Amino acid sequence: MFSHHDLRSLVAFQPDGFPVVSLYLNVDGRQYSVPQCVERLHQLIRRARTELLTAYATEQISRSVEQDLDAMTRYVGAEFDRGIWKGLALFSCSAQRFWRAYPLPHSVPDAAYVEPRPYVHPLAQLLSECPRTVAALVDREKARLFEIELGRIIEVEGVEDKVPGRFRPGTHYGLEDKDIERYVDVHILKHLEHAAAALEDLVNREHPTWLVLAGTPDVVPQFRRVLPHDIELLVAGEAHDLMIIANPREVLLNVVKVVERARRERASKILYEIRESAGPNGRSVIGVDETLRALYMEAVYKLAVDNRLHSSGFACVSCGRLFTVTGNCPECGHPEPATVHDIVEAAVELAVSQDAIVTFISDGVESQVPGGMAALLRFQPPSFANSGENAETNHAR
Ligand SMILES: [Zn+2]
Repeated sequence: MFSHHDLRSLVAFQPDGFPVVSLYLNVDGRQYSVPQCVERLHQLIRRARTELLTAYATEQISRSVEQDLDAMTRYVGAEFDRGIWKGLALFSCSAQRFWRAYPLPHSVPDAAYVEPRPYVHPLAQLLSECPRTVAALVDREKARLFEIELGRIIEVEGVEDKVPGRFRPGTHYGLEDKDIERYVDVHILKHLEHAAAALEDLVNREHPTWLVLAGTPDVVPQFRRVLPHDIELLVAGEAHDLMIIANPREVLLNVVKVVERARRERASKILYEIRESAGPNGRSVIGVDETLRALYMEAVYKLAVDNRLHSSGFACVSCGRLFTVTGNCPECGHPEPATVHDIVEAAVELAVSQDAIVTFISDGVESQVPGGMAALLRFQPPSFANSGENAETNHAR
């Protein structure tokens, strides 16, 4: 399953001058038969050959791209088993023996790119919109744990403890009713602590963005109280209609609703924080060019991108600074920058490589990203407040 770890490894890949072919294919069985998928793949490959290959002159490079396209054709035709998958993302750089295939539980628009680096924009967007989640269902003797990512759910090992019943005095050798209560409560508490430890292990292993709790209504609040503070902070909310015996599909449907609400709230909060801390000495930047400069300074902590933003731009061939206004590099003044077809892709790659949190803001969120792109900063870079005085910047977007 595709994860943040994979995204980071794609962004970190150094192809050493060879182009990388990135291919996205919608393989959703509700829309396309297998032969239709293969036919669309062939169309993409043909287009990549004729349009994109012409951009790469040397024979060594052309050969690498040809091998990439052959490998992708072979993979889709002979190796890939569609099963439940709806999307497919392939990355190849044959000259560097680099190959990655990620079946996706969400469909993606068909596209092929031959670029100097893996094209990750659609995957970063998917991860932002379907964040990794862990769900815990608890009752007085059982805890079931689930990992959920990109619409897929896997049940992992939970815990089960023997807890005595409250109303079987015969088993409690002469204990008074209230003693039985206490005796049982101690066992339930031990069970919940046991479950919390298992959950903590899972969270430390999987690093989910969110945690969703569910189960018996009077047990869930007790469980929440025994969670370590840093785990409790991840709780997106509680799913109220889930019984301990729920099947994974029911768990998935309910958890996704809770996460979707939490995701919207978090997006609104990020946008609020960005607006509140904007200003000459503030800890946020608004607008594409301001944000690109903050990324260049490695100052971005949280990047917010309007998911409808599509813009080309430039990259300085000397210092690497990204910008969108025609002219010399606003950082070092170097003339003749390289054209960047998708400035969002370039910004996302930079943000991921700097461990910033990338949030794509979709239509469902009430407010929009000011300027299409904005960021909360880790620190205010030196002379940042004075930036842009000499360069032509783009506040008005
Ligand atoms: Zn420069």
